[in-house]
Amino acid sequence: MKLPHHLTIKKGHLHINGHDCVDLAEKYGTPLYITSEDRICEQFRNYQNALSSRYPKNQVLFAAKANGNLAVLRALAQLGAGADIFSSGELCLALDAGMPADKLLFNGSSKTPDDLQLAVKSDVIVSVDSLDELYQLDAVAKAAGKTVKIAFRVNPALKIPTHPKIATGLASSKFGIPHKEIPTAYKKALTCKYVKPIGLHCHIGSQILDVELFAQAAEVMVRIAKELTTIGVNLEFIDLGGGLGIPYHHDTDFAPTPEDYAAKIVPIFKEGIEACGITPELWVEPGRSLVADSTVLLTRINSTKSAHKQFANVDAGFNLLIRPAMYDAYHEVIVANKADKSPTTTYTVTGPICESGDILAIDRQLPKIAAGDLIAVLDAGAYGFAMSSQYNSRPRCPEVIIKGSLVGLMRRGETIEDLTINMTRPPWQQ
Ligand SMILES: *Cc1c(COP(=O)(O)O)cnc(C)c1O
Repeated sequence: MKLPHHLTIKKGHLHINGHDCVDLAEKYGTPLYITSEDRICEQFRNYQNALSSRYPKNQVLFAAKANGNLAVLRALAQLGAGADIFSSGELCLALDAGMPADKLLFNGSSKTPDDLQLAVKSDVIVSVDSLDELYQLDAVAKAAGKTVKIAFRVNPALKIPTHPKIATGLASSKFGIPHKEIPTAYKKALTCKYVKPIGLHCHIGSQILDVELFAQAAEVMVRIAKELTTIGVNLEFIDLGGGLGIPYHHDTDFAPTPEDYAAKIVPIFKEGIEACGITPELWVEPGRSLVADSTVLLTRINSTKSAHKQFANVDAGFNLLIRPAMYDAYHEVIVANKADKSPTTTYTVTGPICESGDILAIDRQLPKIAAGDLIAVLDAGAYGFAMSSQYNSRPRCPEVIIKGSLVGLMRRGETIEDLTINMTRPPWQQ
């Protein structure tokens, strides 16, 4: 199986950035999320270089929902990243990680009054998703005696061939304002005294492997930018969103790189803004493609079973990685302590959760395995821990992060006590 260069096999063991996964399992226990900070930083720089060599006025925003660990956000903040944030929680994490407010775009189709107040108070930019939200935001800013900078989220109504649960730019999507209604929305925003429209935003979906779709979205966006310029909107940035996919099937998927992506979209962007006579910043918001391949989820086999097929029952399930159950997602798996043995047997890797859908990997060719062996689930850094739960009353596992020769805990494992920490006795049970 093809491996990214931070994953290597030495003496039969899978290593991440030179660290033996078998040793890490001994030291920290399993299940365990292991992240390479070096890999995240490398991929962030790939984005920066790909954009900057073509158009220096750019900003890469990390989509914080993909991986909300502060250590990850801090590493990216140090490289100059901003963030696409989707909740008050993500807003606070991004600020805490050291990202400046003017690099934070508060997105979301259903913001609460508290969200709007926090956005205004924190001076972040708001991606407004409806006219209702626009007027609410104007009122909140007025009450706070401030002006809030905004973009509108455009729904470009493109057909996106990705999993329906992660296609966000379809005409029928819940996100954004239909592209035809966008000029009207900006005209309304220009009449609001406490709102200043400075940007234009879209995000068409996730795990997109065809750069042609990003090109189509960019075409729609620059066309709208032209219209907005003529009605007097002064665009300071155009944000083309995230969504670049990764090769989850290592040997058969082809995934464009940040370089391929930039080579496709930047010329369209540049031609479009030249036609408008403006020089806004170009923003992009990658999530998955920045962090997915940085991380493995290491899980130990509790037992094997030969029923109608061979099962490997492991200690991590959809409580820790829900993508296979939720999106039928494919993740490569490697037997981390037998990584040099040839595959001889077909196994289905199943989690410990009381649901028949709790399957991490179906019908994979693996070497002969036994209880105690370690399975590494690859490409688990995006929408992995971030979507974890305590379902079945299972404490979440720890996360470690690697930087060069150093390994450090970035989240301690939860304990049984943590399960009840927020529970309270109702008065009649005292
Ligand atoms: C989720 C999301 C992203 C990131 O998507 P990826 O597919 O992880 O790159 C970017 N922008 C917005 C608005 C999002 O909701």
